[in-house]
Amino acid sequence: MTDATHSVTQSALEALTHEYLKGLGGTIRDDGNRWHVHLPAHVNVSFTDSQEFEIVLGTREDPDVTDERLLSPESDFAQQVLDEAAKMAPVGQVSLTSETVEENYEYPSWVTESTATVDHASFTPYYDKTGVCVFVRLGVETVSEYQTQFLEAVALDVDSKTPFPYAAEILLSEFFQPKQSPPGGNSNREPSVRSDELENAVSVGQKRAVEGLQDELDSIRESASRAADSEFEEYQQLQEQRINELQKEISSLSERLQKSASTVDDADSRKQRVEALEQRRELKDEKEQAEEELSELLQRKERGYAQKRRSIYDRHSIEIQTKPLAATLVNYERGELTLELSEGGRTATLRVPYAVGAGATGEVDCKNCDERLSGENPVWVCVDGAQCRKCR
Ligand SMILES: [Zn+2]
Repeated sequence: MTDATHSVTQSALEALTHEYLKGLGGTIRDDGNRWHVHLPAHVNVSFTDSQEFEIVLGTREDPDVTDERLLSPESDFAQQVLDEAAKMAPVGQVSLTSETVEENYEYPSWVTESTATVDHASFTPYYDKTGVCVFVRLGVETVSEYQTQFLEAVALDVDSKTPFPYAAEILLSEFFQPKQSPPGGNSNREPSVRSDELENAVSVGQKRAVEGLQDELDSIRESASRAADSEFEEYQQLQEQRINELQKEISSLSERLQKSASTVDDADSRKQRVEALEQRRELKDEKEQAEEELSELLQRKERGYAQKRRSIYDRHSIEIQTKPLAATLVNYERGELTLELSEGGRTATLRVPYAVGAGATGEVDCKNCDERLSGENPVWVCVDGAQCRKCR
């Protein structure tokens, strides 16, 4: 999973659905892994015709759950709920500020790997940027398995398309918790995003979601290819059996033909002789047919049954469909994070380009040797201030 994407968890999905149903004016009676939902009479949703229904919470792996209204990140029902929710508010809008994260900043690896302690961190915003967080549904279809669904949240900057690694996570954890108003609130600043810019960002987000699921997709691809392997093996075995059958048939026909030659010679009457000749002709035809089939089969075997192989593997290839569901515009601030570090009674101050939701947005070099700070070359505090490990 790349940093840019974040899987929508069961709890986030439940919280989101809960909020959505409440927003429709519905009442929910919580009964363990079931919700008894009652919607007001005027509400019209596509996933049910009745005002009262049950939602089952769980995963597809639960053996006894076959309910049509199963709420799990992979279920069809969850997609329907998100589709409906997205229809209500196609593009939401939130602000990410230092208050949103309650000053819990994401430090770069050269700080987290450091022996120095962060005594204090403060963020200075310089300018506002606009990002987009998009829920992407991925459907993977194979012939051997039923369709697998994934739901990913992807967040990226609208202009640069650079991901902001923590934004999707913050949005999922902060904005979809039930009975909790979003910290930072809905934005009253209007981000101006042209619709083509937004479309472009959403389509990049879809690609990122696929990249983010590479491992899962690879494993589906592998299992599809194993299914194709075994189907092809089975086909080869069947052909091998047929080849054996034909070879046996041909040798038995040859024997019978030899015998029939003497039957013709030994015929007592003209009638018997005609009959024997007739039988011999039939045997010959039969043998020729079998030989023809065998030679065709052997030729195909020699070519590795290429055509059949291709058609089997084509049929088992996986098809990935992505569809963006809800998109949320994210106002976020880019600026600088000031870190006050201490180590062994010594202190130093460092500044790093930073954005809320994105973490460090730029590199910092060692003031002493110009070497870049990194997880492998973290900062430490000496009498002369902050330096890299190589200067130690
Ligand atoms: Zn250095």
